[in-house]
Amino acid sequence: MGIKFSTDFPGGNGLCLGIREGDAQEPVAVRFAAEPKNCPIALWFHFRLGGLDGRAVRLILANPEQTLGGSDWSENKAVYRTPERKWRRTEKPAAITTPGGRTEWAFDLPETQDAVEFAFCFPYQVNDFKATLSQIADSFHTEEIGISPHGRRLLRVRNQGKVSDLPGVYLTARHHAGETPGSWVLDGLLGYVARSPQLRDAARWWAVPFVSIDDVGEGSYGKDPWPWDINRAYSYAGLRRVEARAVASDVRRWAKECKPLVYIDLHAPTHRERQNYVPIPSADEEVFEQSPGAKPFAEMYLAQMPEAIRSSSAWKDTSGWVTRYEGLSSCGWVRKELNIDAFTIETSYQGNEKVDYTIANYQRMGRALAETIAQWCRNKSSR
Ligand SMILES: [Zn+2]
Repeated sequence: MGIKFSTDFPGGNGLCLGIREGDAQEPVAVRFAAEPKNCPIALWFHFRLGGLDGRAVRLILANPEQTLGGSDWSENKAVYRTPERKWRRTEKPAAITTPGGRTEWAFDLPETQDAVEFAFCFPYQVNDFKATLSQIADSFHTEEIGISPHGRRLLRVRNQGKVSDLPGVYLTARHHAGETPGSWVLDGLLGYVARSPQLRDAARWWAVPFVSIDDVGEGSYGKDPWPWDINRAYSYAGLRRVEARAVASDVRRWAKECKPLVYIDLHAPTHRERQNYVPIPSADEEVFEQSPGAKPFAEMYLAQMPEAIRSSSAWKDTSGWVTRYEGLSSCGWVRKELNIDAFTIETSYQGNEKVDYTIANYQRMGRALAETIAQWCRNKSSR
């Protein structure tokens, strides 16, 4: 039986360009590309290999130039798991120079079983969210707030019933579908808030776990996808995506049921950045000013983070960035529509200068974010 390469599962991505089995002593070499699918830029990949019979594997990323962050993957550690072990990081990849002078990147997996799964970063799919939800269902209730272009259900969770004078917090993740660190942070935040009656009862917590739900399910990175980036679709010229329309309607509903204080949109940066940060100013063409609270909020979040997983700075000066995308982001729209704080948070796929992040690290950041938000609400409410 030969090696089987597959992506026919939620979030699957990867184009197999060639498999070389060699003899029993050699690793199986699989050359693959991160598929751009509906986007002008690739990044996400997640595929399975079967029929390995325990042989070592070398996985070669063949199109690094087409990924967000570009061709230098020298510092990047991907993730893999075998049927009997949880996700873990690879080592850094080896550079392979092609006869034509290009560089491709080889990730070595010395230990496999019959099968192995390999991904750019820790996957987070609807089933992962549902597993967490089953543990927090006493605290958080789920509702469908619309459907996607391909007929998937857009979900939102929220805590408790109507208490209109409580401060309101609204979070979104996966406006860009491949940015799974944001999901693990949200996962940690929801679990922590559910376990802490003090936090849970102090605010109205609402969250949309997957905005670009089609791209999440179909394994697209989802940055600037056809026909329009969802996080540039909140323009006053009109909401250009049904997903944005569902979120915008829901944010308006939320704002009537609480004292809306803060909106947070969770993202991840380019592939090799080893920093977590709030980008200042925002890249919005239609909103030129960042929320004045962005820097203090970012500093507060940094201070809540345990030393070991803390990033070296809280925010990043992005004033030199030229946005390639027209249109208004969700944060820009919230600022204009409700005149409240709205922040984007970028969480590294990799780690900080010292450690490579694990799923537990991301969830721990969610706990720090929950404490930061609660503190922010207390400060705002006491004014
Ligand atoms: Zn993003």
